[in-house]
Amino acid sequence: MLALDLIIIIYFAFKQTNKTCNILRKHFLWTLILRIIMGRRKSKRKPPPKRKNIQPLDQQFNCPFCNHEKSCEVKMDKSRNTARISCRVCLEDYQTTINFLSEPLDVYNDWVDACENAN
Ligand SMILES: [Zn+2]
Repeated sequence: MLALDLIIIIYFAFKQTNKTCNILRKHFLWTLILRIIMGRRKSKRKPPPKRKNIQPLDQQFNCPFCNHEKSCEVKMDKSRNTARISCRVCLEDYQTTINFLSEPLDVYNDWVDACENAN
């Protein structure tokens, strides 16, 4: 697909430049072609690894009850606007409402706040 697009662009570029003999137009078309090549390479390569790097953000937290490290896991249910965090060690759990912007860290912070309010 990329090769076909380029052939069409180059064909029209030569057709136009031969007709008008306009150096500026020639330059403009070539920079346009280069931009398309560079832009496609960049857009094809960059976005996927970025998403992968963002996803496995810290989703395990220290438990505010038993103080075990990274024993609490967050499960986000964005379709029902709820999230549940639970500790694998002491089995304490907490459920809260979330919105589309919420991150697991927000759920954990909510839990810690709720614990502090209860005490
Ligand atoms: Zn715990």
